[in-house]
Amino acid sequence: AASDHDPRSSSTKGWALHQAAAEVLPGGVNSATRYVGHPYAFAGGDGAYVVDLDGNRYLDYHAAFGAILLGHNAAVVDDPVRAAVGKVDLFGLGVTELEVELATKVTEVIPSAEMMIATMSGSEATAQAVRLARAATGRQLLVKFQGGFHGWHDAVARNVISRPELAYGRDPLSAGILDTALDSTLIAEFNDLDSVRALFEQFPERIAAVIMEPIPHNVGALVPTQEFVEGLRALTSAEGALLIFDEVITGFRHALGGYQEVVGVQPDLTTFGKGMANGYPIGGLAGPRSLMERFDGQKGDVLLAGTFNGYGIGATAAIATIDHLRTHPDFYTRTHALGERMRSGLSSIVAELGLDATVAGFGGVFSLYFAAGPIRGYRDLMRNDDQAYAAFHRRMTDKGFLMIPMSLKRNHVSGSHTEQDIDRTLEAARDVLAGMKA
Ligand code: PLP
Repeated sequence: AASDHDPRSSSTKGWALHQAAAEVLPGGVNSATRYVGHPYAFAGGDGAYVVDLDGNRYLDYHAAFGAILLGHNAAVVDDPVRAAVGKVDLFGLGVTELEVELATKVTEVIPSAEMMIATMSGSEATAQAVRLARAATGRQLLVKFQGGFHGWHDAVARNVISRPELAYGRDPLSAGILDTALDSTLIAEFNDLDSVRALFEQFPERIAAVIMEPIPHNVGALVPTQEFVEGLRALTSAEGALLIFDEVITGFRHALGGYQEVVGVQPDLTTFGKGMANGYPIGGLAGPRSLMERFDGQKGDVLLAGTFNGYGIGATAAIATIDHLRTHPDFYTRTHALGERMRSGLSSIVAELGLDATVAGFGGVFSLYFAAGPIRGYRDLMRNDDQAYAAFHRRMTDKGFLMIPMSLKRNHVSGSHTEQDIDRTLEAARDVLAGMKA
């Protein structure tokens, strides 16, 4: 349970560490979204729980933005990692058995994958995907969706979460981005095939690829219609452009074969990261041999480089995670059932209290929008009440339930959560939401 002292008080160890951090880390953190006005500082994690420096225990649905898939410090991953430490640090020449084993496993489980490259992060995987698409098509433009996040690099640094006046306009993710990169990225509306078709009409034979999160979890959970995904597949093929599924969140989480297995549509390229190695850094890009062979240093023309690519510890962790998922298909039935239990519980509470809120999600992922439904695309999300979500988040934290702090993101049920965890969370959410209404 949460402790009975205020975790935001200046007498906590977390607060003191944040003071020290602010001296040596910009903003006191190593990734901008980790500071949200609350001095979170963690000491450890175990299964579905994390513990902060002051000893407060939280039931964790943040799950490191989804990088924790099986649960914190899962022995099925950590034990093989422990055995690999001291043996397979790094070589910088040739290949290891681990890299071949990992790529083989990925090509076995991902429907559209014939070959794979390993990167260190999701951003590196999407950067490689976009570069490969440009090389393969000889075209420069990229289509992404308003609200979609594909990492921090220039090629995808446009129109992630936008203030209403900037949505669909020219909204850079950061200062310092090349104008040409921004101008080469075109913005469409999710679940609106006509918005994509219009871009192909406006820029004939100039679009290299459409990149999409098959479910845009960076704005919660906009579940695509079957027609939308099938329509995008047909449209990109007809136009000679590639379809890239960024499965950095959905991959391995929603099904062993990713969301492409769920929807039955194969992209040209697929990117991975996050949950793939249950918290160890690794990313990947997979696709057909004909495209992936462009990375071949002898015969190809696209540079594949990276000192740490395919490193032994990350490869070991990814192999262990995939092996576990392969031998425990109940991971999917369990997390999907728990996710459904959470979503239907939250929906009942919202209905009972008569709130202008909508519960969304898929599999083990759930989001609570403070906006009346239906929510189909980003346009609908512009009605979301961010202040209400912030209040909900803060009060849930105080009760010992760690949810994602940003209003348009998602929460994750891992392989370690139980029915009792979900029921306790629903009880707390009922109290919080009733209190917010009062
Ligand atoms: N793609 C998606 C869909 C993501 O959610 C993220 C990270 O949030 C990335 C790519 C970038 O991955 P990384 O943070 O590992 O660079």
